[in-house]
Amino acid sequence: MVIVSYALAGLLFGSFATLASHRLIHGGPLVRGRSRCPACEAPLAARDLVPVLSWLWLRGRCRRCGAAIGLRYPLVELVTAVVFALAGWRFGLAPAGLLVAAAGLVLVILAAADLATGLLPDTATLALVPLALAHRWLADDALLLAVLGGALGLGLGWGLRIGAGLVLKRESLGLGDVKLLGAAGLWLPLAAWPAYLVAAGLAGSVLGGLWRLVTGEPEFPFGPALAVALYSIILLPPGALP
Ligand SMILES: [Zn+2]
Repeated sequence: MVIVSYALAGLLFGSFATLASHRLIHGGPLVRGRSRCPACEAPLAARDLVPVLSWLWLRGRCRRCGAAIGLRYPLVELVTAVVFALAGWRFGLAPAGLLVAAAGLVLVILAAADLATGLLPDTATLALVPLALAHRWLADDALLLAVLGGALGLGLGWGLRIGAGLVLKRESLGLGDVKLLGAAGLWLPLAAWPAYLVAAGLAGSVLGGLWRLVTGEPEFPFGPALAVALYSIILLPPGALP
């Protein structure tokens, strides 16, 4: 029951994630009065706001102007529902579960923004900082260790950025990725770093392969892989890492 409640909350927050991933890059208020059609600005009726189902019912088109409403709307809603359900499954109805779900929402926003624009909005990355510190505090970890982890993440990200730039002769790890690695460092115990980097590499290959298959675009941004890897490690049960 707890997992279902988390999933339903995730469905509702999913449409916020799509909006935020767009607004944090292009500007505009994060909270809107009524939801509107992105093309004709017609306010949407309540029956058009049911996550996923409205999109299926309307076959991905606005009821008024018939403009196509991208598949990413229901997809982001579904992904956010899964992300929330995983937090509920691992942590139950507890402060840690709510914190992790909130972090999951931020990671969905970051991944969606990176896939759409190749940019990771700083505001979203920064939102991970207080969530990480609260999560570590709840877990009785020393906050100094968390801060050290953050510094390690930033340093490692910076080194990878310079190293990859020298080898590949072009920018492959953006500044947004470096900052996201710093935020990940706040979340992760130092011992989790090797697993995190392996998970990020794996996620990058799998997601990148799927991305090329579906979109035909050769470049896959690294932000979503960093986000998926971080969330996976946060969900690991205690003692899963050596
Ligand atoms: Zn419309």
